[in-house]
Amino acid sequence: MADLRTCPSCGEFFNYTGVREVCPRCGMNEEKTYEEVYRFLRKRENRAATIERIVEATEATEEMLHKWVRKGRLQPAMFPNLGYPCDNCGKLTSKGKLCDTCIADLKQDLKTFDAATEFREAVRKNDQATYLSDRKR
Ligand SMILES: [Zn+2]
Ligand SMILES: [Zn+2]
Repeated sequence: MADLRTCPSCGEFFNYTGVREVCPRCGMNEEKTYEEVYRFLRKRENRAATIERIVEATEATEEMLHKWVRKGRLQPAMFPNLGYPCDNCGKLTSKGKLCDTCIADLKQDLKTFDAATEFREAVRKNDQATYLSDRKR
């Protein structure tokens, strides 16, 4: 069954086949751009290029580069300065949804949360005890 969608890149209608989110023409352009980026990055002096530098030197946009790293088409292991924004702070990361800093923060928050829960529990028990002893009087 035909699934007609609008291409987010050029706004044209196209037959969605589940392979890509853009129309075949934009898909082809994107592939060309990918090859261009790949050729650029394969040069030894460009290995450590940042996203900004690649956007400057090729047709690629930041979004494309983020997407390729997410999909594993560009390996951060080979190109250390590549990544995509952390869901929380926007800093570049190359694995998961959050960067290392946010994960560390999150763990710290959880610890604080646990401590707060324990504290509230202690207060509650204490209140109860006071209440019970008040009633006895
Ligand atoms: Zn298109
Ligand atoms: Zn972060």
